[in-house]
Amino acid sequence: MYVDSHCHLDFPELAQNLPDILRRMEQNLVSHALVVSVNMPQWPGLMELVAPHPHLYASVGVHPDYEDTPEPSADELAGMAESPKVVAIGETGLDYFRLSEPLEWQRERFRTHIRASRKSGLPLIIHTRSASEDTLRIMREEGADEFGGVMHCFTESWEVAQAAMAMNFYISLSGIVTFKKATDLQDLAVKLPLDRLLIETDSPYLAPVPYRGKVNDPSKVIHVAEKIAELRDMPVAEVAKHSTDNFFRLFSKIQR
Ligand SMILES: [Zn+2]
Ligand SMILES: [Zn+2]
Repeated sequence: MYVDSHCHLDFPELAQNLPDILRRMEQNLVSHALVVSVNMPQWPGLMELVAPHPHLYASVGVHPDYEDTPEPSADELAGMAESPKVVAIGETGLDYFRLSEPLEWQRERFRTHIRASRKSGLPLIIHTRSASEDTLRIMREEGADEFGGVMHCFTESWEVAQAAMAMNFYISLSGIVTFKKATDLQDLAVKLPLDRLLIETDSPYLAPVPYRGKVNDPSKVIHVAEKIAELRDMPVAEVAKHSTDNFFRLFSKIQR
């Protein structure tokens, strides 16, 4: 069995094909998917989407790329996280690629989410892009190691991975690892300890080879696992087993 640790099934290109996608997940043995929140206006719809499906779960949080959007407090986030369907805080973090300084609001928002993790006891889903130094610094300053989480769609260096793992974080690899030019990430996929590995689609984006450029969905997470297995020269069942075990260990609110 496989799991997709990060997707956006509530985005319109996926939500409108949900029955098809759920069927493809079943065909590909993808048992669970975590539908990750990006902002508050979309969150009620996300919760409505996961509610009737026992194998779909949710997070709550505001993505760093959304400017001028409602800013929930740590208490508000922790309150929303009390729903049995909500298993993580995020996605949160820093993104200096899409936006440029002044970005103090982004760092403040990130700190608020780490504090919400402390209040709720739930793990963090961290997005970091062109901002690894500040991301690690704020994680350290806010004591994110106390509850851990995942560095999602990881594309940073081995040093950054090691620093995150030292703070009890898992490293999640997306379809990027299947891209021909992603040689640094492929080297990292070989070095990563299996007990720290998660896999994800980040769908609808980042469809893995051989679907590159098409709309991605959680059933395609098997291609991420297959690539990692090929790189590590091990059976794909091993990659599936470890990444699935890690998923249930980290998101411990989910009933297996
Ligand atoms: Zn992200
Ligand atoms: Zn995402």
